[in-house]
Amino acid sequence: MINACLISISLVLFFFFSWFSLVSIIEKEPLAFKRSLLLAIILPLPFILLFASSFQFKELLSLILFGLIVLSIFALLIPINFSKNTGCENPQSQIDERNTMFSRRELTNKTEKFESYYKNNPEYLAIDNDWRKKPGLMSEKSSMYSPLAFTAADASFFTIESLRNQVTGDVNTTKKNFSNIEYTQFIKKWSKKLGAINMGVCELQKHHLYSYRGRGKEYGNKVENNHKYAIAFTVEMDKDFLATGPAGPTLMESAQQYLNSGIIAIQVAKFIRELGYEACAHIDGDYEVVCPLVARDAGLGEIGRMGLLMTPKLGPRIRIAVVTTNLPLLINKRKPDYTVQSFCAICKKCANVCPSQAISKNNKIEIEGINRWQINQEKCFSYWCTSGTDCGRCMSVCPYSHPNNLLHNMVRWGIKNSVIFRHFALFMDDFFYGRKPKPAKIPAWLNIFPK
Ligand code: SF4
Ligand code: SF4
Repeated sequence: MINACLISISLVLFFFFSWFSLVSIIEKEPLAFKRSLLLAIILPLPFILLFASSFQFKELLSLILFGLIVLSIFALLIPINFSKNTGCENPQSQIDERNTMFSRRELTNKTEKFESYYKNNPEYLAIDNDWRKKPGLMSEKSSMYSPLAFTAADASFFTIESLRNQVTGDVNTTKKNFSNIEYTQFIKKWSKKLGAINMGVCELQKHHLYSYRGRGKEYGNKVENNHKYAIAFTVEMDKDFLATGPAGPTLMESAQQYLNSGIIAIQVAKFIRELGYEACAHIDGDYEVVCPLVARDAGLGEIGRMGLLMTPKLGPRIRIAVVTTNLPLLINKRKPDYTVQSFCAICKKCANVCPSQAISKNNKIEIEGINRWQINQEKCFSYWCTSGTDCGRCMSVCPYSHPNNLLHNMVRWGIKNSVIFRHFALFMDDFFYGRKPKPAKIPAWLNIFPK
């Protein structure tokens, strides 16, 4: 019996870590591959040696080992959660889009907009003039300049721009008559067919809406949106491209997924208007809504340390687009998952790798009535103006960003299940992928320069 147990344990360890190393090769994770292969060889050894020995206390030692293994498994798998709601989760006032970096970067010196903005917000002038001296996003002088990747990203942004006049349109005067369940199910299935990873619906609330528009021709307009519902769509960002961040491919991928999510939103909004109901798509550069808050309330994830939406299967490795509408829909009842913030509280991996130190390593603090982390958007954007890309280093190293497969979903389940497992998962993530993982190599076809 003892011998059978010893052999079984050594086989389980061997096959588990061999499988891990195989998955790591597929995921192009060299450190995880080496370390899991090493464990596949080393960990079964004590059990095999014990099996082969005729050592006097073999039975006693085996029993102690079995006991320790069983206790560890119990400790990791028993559901223990102290994570709880830490108070109000919604901003007490609406966010003014004009204060975001995307808006401030559109201000041109000596224009009326520029003068007026800094007259009302003098505290930002020196900070903003600082990053204005740097090469800038997609600049040829930036440190991560890559001619083909930057030009490809520019082509995606150009295509998004050409879609901006399609976000609203005429509404069919004849209404179609389906139930809210039928509409919701159809849009969910269709948007996934179009490439969305997930789709959720919530009631549109005041805190979802910007107070004033901050971009393009709508700059300075008060946001007036009386739609009843908001539909959020998430699309996946390619892990391999993101892993090269802050290099050029990460910018290419961002632009591509802004485009893909935007196309889905525009198609769905047009479809709804054809059904006889108002609908407006909110896409890159043309938002009336704060997408992560809408997506959170639509049940698609939680907000983590980086201030981004953390989805259950891909973490922050997504882009979001939204459609607001009056089409009768079935809302997703949000089930808050406080374990995400509990994991963020101990992890801090994004904060450790951030080249601009823009992510807080401290505990959450109260901002506008919410207990949360806030990234320093000026520091982050300033780095983008040096690198020329939107960096993405933080998203890439997040333990939740690993691919959606059995191995990582087992870990995600454990993280959700137990506070002890969360500490164990973080230790293992550091061991297999590194505490400060290095950016991945840029694929050769993306890394060529003119001769
Ligand atoms: S890297 Fe860690 S701390 Fe940062 S968002 Fe991801 S889980 Fe949270
Ligand atoms: S995108 Fe880069 S600079 Fe910005 S917060 Fe993330 S890691 Fe830091």
